[in-house]
Amino acid sequence: MDKLTEQFLELIRRASTDLPPDVEQALTRARDAEEGRAKATLDWMLKNVAEAREYSMPICQDTGTLIFYVDHGPDVRPARIEAAAKAAAAEATNKSYLRPNAVDPITGKNSGDNSGRGAPYLHFHEVEEKGALKVRLMLKGGGSENCGIQYTLPDREIKAGRDLTGIKRCLLDAALKAQGFGCAPGVLGVGVGGDRMSSYMESKEQLFRSLDDTNPDPLLAEIESELTTKINELGIGPMGFSGKTTVLGIKLGLRHRLPASFFVSVSYMCWAYRKASMTIADGEASYSGVTS
Ligand code: SF4
Repeated sequence: MDKLTEQFLELIRRASTDLPPDVEQALTRARDAEEGRAKATLDWMLKNVAEAREYSMPICQDTGTLIFYVDHGPDVRPARIEAAAKAAAAEATNKSYLRPNAVDPITGKNSGDNSGRGAPYLHFHEVEEKGALKVRLMLKGGGSENCGIQYTLPDREIKAGRDLTGIKRCLLDAALKAQGFGCAPGVLGVGVGGDRMSSYMESKEQLFRSLDDTNPDPLLAEIESELTTKINELGIGPMGFSGKTTVLGIKLGLRHRLPASFFVSVSYMCWAYRKASMTIADGEASYSGVTS
């Protein structure tokens, strides 16, 4: 195995078997604020994370879809990065850091090593700096991914118009619809505007933000804070056992849209919010939980 593949393998191992500090701290704060079954549930989640970290075992049996975001200099070849990511995903499956999770969409046949058409998914972004290479990885479980939803405003069913109130109704509705499906507490990544594809992309990219950051747009920061409070007041709680913590946060981004279209896309991330990043400089990798 070449050095770059080994570095990708380590990135996958870290993402699958540990949680980034912002998520673990948010779960800890939530545990400390809860009582009864909600507190016990969060406590078990945190114990699970500690054991997964100690034994390099996946945090959840569903190790999810591999989503790589790669920022690279002009002299770094995407084909080489993709080859290393695929080889690393296969080896990570072999080492049981990942469950074989890529199946043919028609036949259902499992490729056995997390490779396939469009799998793993890699998104490339070229930057000016020569030799630069930063890779962010998110592992997105199926139960949470199934809770993703895209609204086309106006939406008569939830009485959501093409305005701020309409956007807020979408977020409340998405949290209610996720109840019993994505393992709570979750995080909502939200994309407002764009076309159908870019709106969903925005919602996924928002999930790479740190839970601790504040949206630089004061209006969006206010929506994030207000709706986090409102959704938590629904009382759904950790794993639906009722409680104060249904979401750990909301992250919202905008994209300019066509006058005729108004999409609100929500990507739900469960408590097993697995993301990690790797920066390679002079051939050496440094790893961290993702902060941006
Ligand atoms: S929703 Fe998340 S925690 Fe629940 S089974 Fe899926 S990956 Fe695991």
